[in-house]
Amino acid sequence: MGEQTSRQAGERAGERAGERTGEQAGVPAESALARAWAELVATARRTATEGLVVGTSGNVSVRVGDIVLVTPSGVPYDRLAPHDAVGVDLDGRRMLGELAPTSELPLHLALYRATSARAVVHTHAVHATAVSTLVQELPPIHYMTMALGGPVRVAPYALYGTAELAENMLAALRERTGCLLRNHGTVTYGDTLDQAYDRTAQLEWMCRLWLTATSVPGHTPTLLTPDQLADVERQLRGYGQRPGPAR
Ligand SMILES: [Zn+2]
Repeated sequence: MGEQTSRQAGERAGERAGERTGEQAGVPAESALARAWAELVATARRTATEGLVVGTSGNVSVRVGDIVLVTPSGVPYDRLAPHDAVGVDLDGRRMLGELAPTSELPLHLALYRATSARAVVHTHAVHATAVSTLVQELPPIHYMTMALGGPVRVAPYALYGTAELAENMLAALRERTGCLLRNHGTVTYGDTLDQAYDRTAQLEWMCRLWLTATSVPGHTPTLLTPDQLADVERQLRGYGQRPGPAR
């Protein structure tokens, strides 16, 4: 599909969004919804092509105004088209589209209600999920853990799609932008889809690093101390304040 065709298709999705949502206060512009949906589909496809999910086992969402666009349940990401946009309000009421939203919708909505999240990525990435079965918290083996707010916690197990799982996740995410779900997978959020995606990729990488280091017989990896982590936090804060192109 060429760029022009793709853009036209995106605009059509926006027109559909407008038809469904009307002109109420808090309803985003049609073009904003179409653009956000296109970005969401691209991010969902990236989780599959980069090996963070198999098939349709993860899900992605993005908040535009008071509408949350989410991947639908059970549709392979490479088949998602502009007119497949699925949108709900913060209480889960359908605002846009006909496909059923992901079964993990409660998890996504809980995050938007409780935090400043604008985008959420949930995966079953293999190394992260393996670590979720081994520890209560990913040991601070690398300074990038501070990019997620500190050592990453593991939320206690609960059945997928339940309010209980969403609650456990919120507790694990206190002062963090990512966590593991025991025997299940990862959740990260951010200001943008790219940021949420990057946090998932970093988390999976750190879990892989820890598994690799701990698998060497007769050796135990060194971990960063609280003082070393505090230094990293200060450095990262400085980095964030440097002028530069927004991403
Ligand atoms: Zn899941």
